[in-house]
Amino acid sequence: MNIIIMGAPGSGKGTQAVKICKAHGIPHISTGDLLRKNIADGTELGKQAKTYMDAGKLVPDELVIALLKARVGEDDCKAGFLLDGFPRNAAQAKVLDGIVDIDVALYLETDLKKLADRVASRRVCPKCGYSTSASQAPDGKCRECGENLIIRDDDKREVVENRLKVYAENTAPLVDYYKAEGVLKTVDGMNSIDEVNADIEAVLK
Ligand code: ADP
Ligand code: ZN
Repeated sequence: MNIIIMGAPGSGKGTQAVKICKAHGIPHISTGDLLRKNIADGTELGKQAKTYMDAGKLVPDELVIALLKARVGEDDCKAGFLLDGFPRNAAQAKVLDGIVDIDVALYLETDLKKLADRVASRRVCPKCGYSTSASQAPDGKCRECGENLIIRDDDKREVVENRLKVYAENTAPLVDYYKAEGVLKTVDGMNSIDEVNADIEAVLK
């Protein structure tokens, strides 16, 4: 099964993506994680992407599309995969349609006004990608691997506002795009993590 998970920054799609992939044994392809890995490794692509990411802007399509094409072409994607953070605009959705068939587009519907706070309190593990909120990790350590949690560079408040704007302008219209293709499944993203996960699993059955 080829799945896309869509939702605003802070909608919880990264958290749900990890759970879905564990439950269904498919790879989790997060373009944000792939880009951050390139930045950490100091690659040329990473250097180019960082300026855009730190400003809360979309990384240019040609960079992200090349990254995505290479990744979905790998062997572990043959039996299905979950895309998290791609496509983020109409041009990316068209490219994706040309290379794979999407079976389900999961949309985590959220109240955009409440997301800025969620994102600002997010803490992530630089080693394994686990993400949580500051209040859930008072010791500042990753529950999965023990590493010290960090605040992502683009989770600063000024940048978050911009990411939400970019989302509303570029990415939100894709909900209608996948609705028209007949693969859209909407889940209420304002519920608890476990409730959202149960709703997703019900949809995937
Ligand atoms: P979130 O969904 O919380 O915004 P991501 O990790 O998915 O976080 O993305 C972080 C940043 O990476 C984005 O703000 C953007 O700059 C860049 N990025 C990720 N995926 C894409 C994409 N498909 N197209 C362009 N830029 C992207
Ligand atoms: Zn970790």
